[in-house]
Amino acid sequence: MRTIDAENFKNKKVLIRVDFNVPLDEQFQVKDDTRIRAAVPTIKKVLDDGGSAILISHLGRPKGIAEKYSLKHLMPVLQHIFRKDQVLFASDCIGEIAEQAAKRLQPGQILLLENLRFYPEEEKGDVGFAKQLAALGDFYVNDAFGTAHRRHASTAVIASYFPEHKALGFLMAEEIRNISKVLDDIQHPYVAIIGGAKVSSKINILRNLADKVDHLIIGGGMVFTFIKAQGGSIGSSLVEEGMLSEALEILKVCEQHGVKVNFPIDSVCSDRFGADAIIKTCHTNSIDDGFMGLDIGPQAINQFQEIIMRAKTILWNGPMGVFEMSAFKEGTRQIALSVAASTKAGAFSLVGGGDSVAAINTFHLADEISYVSTGGGAMLEYMEGVILPGIAAIEENQPAL
Ligand code: AMP
Repeated sequence: MRTIDAENFKNKKVLIRVDFNVPLDEQFQVKDDTRIRAAVPTIKKVLDDGGSAILISHLGRPKGIAEKYSLKHLMPVLQHIFRKDQVLFASDCIGEIAEQAAKRLQPGQILLLENLRFYPEEEKGDVGFAKQLAALGDFYVNDAFGTAHRRHASTAVIASYFPEHKALGFLMAEEIRNISKVLDDIQHPYVAIIGGAKVSSKINILRNLADKVDHLIIGGGMVFTFIKAQGGSIGSSLVEEGMLSEALEILKVCEQHGVKVNFPIDSVCSDRFGADAIIKTCHTNSIDDGFMGLDIGPQAINQFQEIIMRAKTILWNGPMGVFEMSAFKEGTRQIALSVAASTKAGAFSLVGGGDSVAAINTFHLADEISYVSTGGGAMLEYMEGVILPGIAAIEENQPAL
């Protein structure tokens, strides 16, 4: 890996692509600063070496310039983490304003540029836009794992202007190192827990894991497509009719690789969403008409716990049920507790993907997991075996565009 470890940034202006896509409240205050804090080690390394940092990021999905999506709202957080007079803001990310601000920047200072996505050229991967950004710094660092799966101007195209002067930041390197423990450098038994709503969004991950894992635990809404494909009765549970044959095919691939696929023995079922719903536990492969499975049942919790406790490597993506509703959160909570307990007993655990991370945070278990990935979509694509453009652009030597 080409990381910033080997670099010395003395007197360099370092352009760092960070992922500051943080949630803001109605008053434009940062609601969760996790992503900002995650970039601090890289920024500190640049400053400690005697360089200056130019931070570039997107925020939200603006259509043109919009106050709501201005990165200036992040300034109080940055000025709190660093010194107030150390962090400067430029109200544009290219052109005269950005160029002058970058020119004036002194070693030890940080310059935050305005939202890259105020320019549609960013997401289009526009070469001219990337070139203007590149002209602001002497060295390019990509520390934005959350957008590494995008081939945007600031995440991939820009790297070609720094053939000798580019590297991955600490956060990016940390993500890659940890994900490699569930992809390449695996301790067995390896258990992958895959849940969530749909098979279609997880099928490529399942395929990529089939020759790596010992146990596959399947939970969430996607269970029922598999159960129906195998001839079970699923009542009115979520099903993807178009995925039935693919579900069978993936089970066959798993069988060929000797992977034990585990479906929940029982499910917590409901006749409707709402306070007055009838809730009962059914065998997952014989759910009554009019009932839908919305969480794994008590027997399934025991069934899965036993497997998780024997694991040396655990990957978890996707909740076991509709954990956002209190009546159907228990399965996800118990599995989260088991992953934490198995980690305590010596397993390596990685949790990634938006909803599973949200679940881990809801149950206050993030500190009891070996690694919680910061990248939702990027982590999923990495797990599918896709070479992420943001990483490839650093690792490969491409000619300047
Ligand atoms: P995903 O984004 O694919 O990981 O799916 C996460 C969503 O799946 C969450 O919002 C859950 O509420 C939902 N989900 C989990 N289990 C079920 C289920 N049995 N039926 C319907 N939706 C579910």
